[in-house]
Amino acid sequence: MRGYFDHNATTPLHPAARAAWLEATDRCWQNPSSLYREAAAVKHRLEEARERLADLLGCDPGRIIFTSGATESNNALVRWLAQQSGPEGRVVSSSMEHPSLAEPLEQEFNGRVLKVPAHADTTLNLEAADRLIQQGNAVLMAVMAANNESGTLNPWRDLAALCRAKQVAYHCDASQWIGKMPLAGLGECDYLTGSAHKFGGPKGTGFLVVRDENERLHLARGGPQEEGRRAGTENYPAIEAMVTALEAVEEALATVVAQQASLRDAFEATLCSLIPGTQIVGREAPRLWNTSLMVLPAHDHRKWLGRLSQAGFAVSTGSACSAGDKGASSVMQAIRAPVEEWRRVLRISGGWKTTQEEWQALAEALGKVSAGL
Ligand code: PLP
Repeated sequence: MRGYFDHNATTPLHPAARAAWLEATDRCWQNPSSLYREAAAVKHRLEEARERLADLLGCDPGRIIFTSGATESNNALVRWLAQQSGPEGRVVSSSMEHPSLAEPLEQEFNGRVLKVPAHADTTLNLEAADRLIQQGNAVLMAVMAANNESGTLNPWRDLAALCRAKQVAYHCDASQWIGKMPLAGLGECDYLTGSAHKFGGPKGTGFLVVRDENERLHLARGGPQEEGRRAGTENYPAIEAMVTALEAVEEALATVVAQQASLRDAFEATLCSLIPGTQIVGREAPRLWNTSLMVLPAHDHRKWLGRLSQAGFAVSTGSACSAGDKGASSVMQAIRAPVEEWRRVLRISGGWKTTQEEWQALAEALGKVSAGL
């Protein structure tokens, strides 16, 4: 492959995470709930991993529940909050949430989800957020930290503060933020979702941070693991690898952010000159340094994707989860982009180590594909 530009769908395993996973799999494979010495050592290391993650996020370790990823965390949380809220409780959310949050919200809070509208530049209308939360019976605000399609950064600190002032719980799906932006303050959100494979950890591993360690929600029943909140043998090697990956990417972040943002910006400038008429969605909004969502001037995005794949470049038509279905990009819908543009969207998402040569080669490949279509 000449260039992997689909890091918002998933990332390769970080070398430090791979080493940690192998070591844990070889030496700490015993069941942490068993009662002999070796198992107790695994349990001890599992709890240490929880504490290291809690330190990174700035929260109490007892608030962290390890899960199979963001989809499980989002689904389980919504189900639990719906049970708690009664038939009148409303949720304030955005129209650009990941389906793993948006779909359970629609199902569990049927007709009681108030959507904060978006501006044309993909940012949220914060005045509307403020208004909606005052409308009464709001039990939850659920707004993601960084958007998976456009990379748009939401002001989650301000939203958390607004919710605190109004005594409404705030949930932040930070799956795309964690590992790409500084973690400071995330632990202050009442509820928080994270997913290891978005930042160099293994797939099928993630976490949910809950408001209070005594909150008695049940993601799965049938065992005492995770304080009885999620039964099932813990995947300690994957958890160890996830925390190791996060420590590694967080440490390198300060240099990565500025460097990569300038490579991505240069790529966008080259592309717009090679293919006149290309629009970069949310270009003026605060964005993740790795993401570029674009509307190309002609042809269905699957055609572009296929040609780029033949040339050795992996890109996406939007969110990986909706790539195969008829539903279009939620960002394009939220900003009310013309329907005929929805099928011309490509999402490019680079990584922590993507080189200038790779970015420029992708721009040139897009230029060549454009000339040949
Ligand atoms: N939330 C967001 C914002 C995502 O981008 C994704 C994956 O694309 C998910 C949730 C689902 O993550 P997972 O694969 O861990 O279930």
